[in-house]
Amino acid sequence: MNNQHRDIVIIGAGVTGLTLAHHLHKKNKSFLVLEKADRPGGVINTQKKADFIYESGPNSGVIGQPEVVALFDELGESITLEKGNDLVKIRYILKNGEWHAIPSNPILAVTTPLFTLKDKFKVLGEPFRSPGNNPDESLADMVKRRLGKSFLDYAIDPFILGVYAGDPSMLIPRYALPKLYNLEQNYGSFIKGAMKKHKEPKTDLEKRTDRAVFSFDGGLSSLTDALFQSAGTQNFLFGAQDTVVSPSENGTYTISFSTAEGKQVISANKVVTTTGSIGLQSLLPFIEEHQMADLTNLKYARVVEIALGFDKWQGCPIEGFGGLIPHKEKRDLLGVLFMSSLFKNRAPEGGALFSVFMGGIRNESLCDLDDKELLSVLEREFKDIMKLPDFNPQLIDIKRYSHAIPQYAINTGDRLDAIEKVQNQFPGLIIAGNLRDGIGMADRIKQATLIAKEL
Ligand SMILES: Cc1cc2nc3c(=O)[nH]c(=O)nc-3n(C[C@H](O)[C@H](O)[C@H](O)COP(=O)(O)OP(=O)(O)OC[C@H]3O[C@@H](n4cnc5c(N)ncnc54)[C@H](O)[C@@H]3O)c2cc1C
Repeated sequence: MNNQHRDIVIIGAGVTGLTLAHHLHKKNKSFLVLEKADRPGGVINTQKKADFIYESGPNSGVIGQPEVVALFDELGESITLEKGNDLVKIRYILKNGEWHAIPSNPILAVTTPLFTLKDKFKVLGEPFRSPGNNPDESLADMVKRRLGKSFLDYAIDPFILGVYAGDPSMLIPRYALPKLYNLEQNYGSFIKGAMKKHKEPKTDLEKRTDRAVFSFDGGLSSLTDALFQSAGTQNFLFGAQDTVVSPSENGTYTISFSTAEGKQVISANKVVTTTGSIGLQSLLPFIEEHQMADLTNLKYARVVEIALGFDKWQGCPIEGFGGLIPHKEKRDLLGVLFMSSLFKNRAPEGGALFSVFMGGIRNESLCDLDDKELLSVLEREFKDIMKLPDFNPQLIDIKRYSHAIPQYAINTGDRLDAIEKVQNQFPGLIIAGNLRDGIGMADRIKQATLIAKEL
């Protein structure tokens, strides 16, 4: 490998790096993906144990970007897409220890105990309320202004726990939920905007961008495995440690790293980092201190994810996507996904598979518990909310994430400015990953597709 030259070096083989590699391979580009782990996929990692197929990272994606539809088309028969069944529409919120379905029609919206009568009336006036004019308003303030406090506490707060493991008073909508922010800015109201957008003419790809919840036969790793194959496995190098990029005088970059075979050095015209803000300082030591400070001033939520499998399920009915637990309920779980209800073959017949989340921005100290302490909290909470007489799971797999989900807070603008300045100062360097452009798998696929077009 010593002294080799490639046009492009990609750092990281998560779904961002893999999607970029897939597109570059299609364009016959010369590139190398350097990955410090020993496998592709990043946080996407499907596991199989006994009769359970479970995820230890993301559980499902949303077909929320046309680039996702196009990518799945290109991968063709190498993936078997599985859209969540109809139960996906049923989502529960915990209030006073009981699950309540999020209302799916106007009658249920009137009768649900989740929101106050005052706020139910307030929603009727939402289309007539004038749009906000503070671009740095927090999500919590925006929702209180347009919908009312009970909608913040029992709709948006649990939704944000489910997506960001975050806090709505910390997140800024124009960065964290740009589609929602734009509905208000462009159409004056969430409700009016959603209705008008629904009627707008759409391209074929847009029509197929139906926000369906997706996984694959065999789990999400089927996607990353298929991308790894389609990108050309010879274009990947795993186990690359202590990678350091430095600009050379001739406008190229030198990339040094270590593998089991010793220290290696390669050069490239362009370098794309997909690691988010994690480890950027040691990866790109040539960037000035104040710029690096802006690039890495990004708080990630800490999360514990526990896969729980039961050969025989004896708790409450689990027809639905899962349940989220508002912060106001003061519980030690963020939410529970009913994975075996959504996707086929995840648990034995009559059994059940769950993904349970703990921690998050407002309950991080739970991530410091050791396994025994964590399981004792889990048992207490899970038995209670899932109405389970005995806690005797056949599968327990605990995964801790110290940097799970980046929080797009008030400093996001400074970070985006710093990225632009650094990229202008060092042509050929692209700083990508989840420090910008969205946190979900669909956002990552879109970002990588757009970068591939640039290259
Ligand atoms: C617990 C959890 C649950 C989630 N749930 C969902 C969900 O349900 N739906 C959804 O859409 N999204 C979800 N997400 C978000 C989604 O998983 C991520 O947005 C996406 O998978 C990130 O992909 P990535 O390639 O950008 O980053 P990663 O997957 O983090 O990949 C980055 C890669 O870079 C490598 N790397 C890092 N530093 C270096 C270095 N110096 N040198 C070489 N390699 C390096 C890492 O080893 C890793 O393989 C979840 C995330 C987590 C953590």
